[in-house]
Amino acid sequence: MANKRDYYEVLGVGKNATDDELKKAYRRLAKKYHPDANPDNKEEAEAKFKEVNEAYEVLSDSQKRKMYDQFGFDGPQGFNSGSQGGGYYSYGSGFDGFGGFSDFGDFGDLGDIFSSFFGGGSSRSRANSNGPRKGADLKISLDITFEESYLGVEKEISLNRNETCTECSGSGARRGTSAEKCATCSGTGKIKQVVTTPFGQMATQKVCPTCNGTGKVIKEPCPECRGKGTVRKSVKIKVKIPEGIDEGQTIVLKGEGEPGKNGGPKGDLYIVVHVKRHSVYSRKAEHVLCEVPITFTGAALGTEIEIPMVDGTKEKFRIPEGTQTGTKFTIKNKGFKSINGKWRGDFVFTVVVQVPKRLTHEQRELLVELAKTMNEQPPLKRKGIFG
Ligand SMILES: [Zn+2]
Ligand SMILES: [Zn+2]
Repeated sequence: MANKRDYYEVLGVGKNATDDELKKAYRRLAKKYHPDANPDNKEEAEAKFKEVNEAYEVLSDSQKRKMYDQFGFDGPQGFNSGSQGGGYYSYGSGFDGFGGFSDFGDFGDLGDIFSSFFGGGSSRSRANSNGPRKGADLKISLDITFEESYLGVEKEISLNRNETCTECSGSGARRGTSAEKCATCSGTGKIKQVVTTPFGQMATQKVCPTCNGTGKVIKEPCPECRGKGTVRKSVKIKVKIPEGIDEGQTIVLKGEGEPGKNGGPKGDLYIVVHVKRHSVYSRKAEHVLCEVPITFTGAALGTEIEIPMVDGTKEKFRIPEGTQTGTKFTIKNKGFKSINGKWRGDFVFTVVVQVPKRLTHEQRELLVELAKTMNEQPPLKRKGIFG
């Protein structure tokens, strides 16, 4: 999957392409690569046609597009290589404990993620209730602080989920026994029914009521799980939140959902991250925003200030003389790391000039003197003193 082309590139549109632009690009390319239009070059055209279709299917669906923008192909490739530091890339190493991540290489196959996330998987599994079925996906939300979203963090989450019963290894039958083939349906899970209707006899098929479509009957149920094959357990899972993660973004842990049925794979765990509001900083795209108060003399004369960054360090910054309140200054590359780890946003602060509410006698005299030079009247209230 590493050689898979970026969907936007496939369609030849920009990342900000509108739905209309997408549609136009898709129509043009679908026409161009339609196998019927390329009789001499059918194989290559078909491959291109498929690629275009897949790209359009994802980008034309706003939810899928969001997922793709968030996880892109850069991320998944990084999972495999594990060589680049930071961000999602670190997933590959250090967490042998939770199997899910070793599977993250599969993430290149976005089709699977989408089908399970957007409900495609369930319709597929319904077709054959007797065959292997993927386990249910789980979804939880996780609150983190602003600083944690900036620096990245490792969290341990607790959740309740169904796990394969260890006593019976998921068969649901008492240890030493096994499930038997259902006699009602001969193990097919379905029974034929002949119904007489005004139009004659009609044969229909329905799920076997004896075995509920599993094709098996458990004579002696496992005492641990009462024949279900799964037990409810509280588990703790470690999850690495990559630096730069934004409010509402989702982390997928493959195989950390509920157990599959009939040998099907485990479901996935979707962790929706919520970032708590910060009293000082806020975020806009990858930039950190904040207000920095300065004195009115500092604003007039210029001053050097120290500004606390989100990571706890301090940056010295020279405010030039004559700075007005509301002026914005930028400290480059001190914002959030982009989710693909390739660049950083900036730290943008807005100066708020503070006018003192109380003055000492000496300060007031100095100010009045200053005011005189600026053709202003001294304040009326103390007129008598200077008068
Ligand atoms: Zn059991
Ligand atoms: Zn049956």
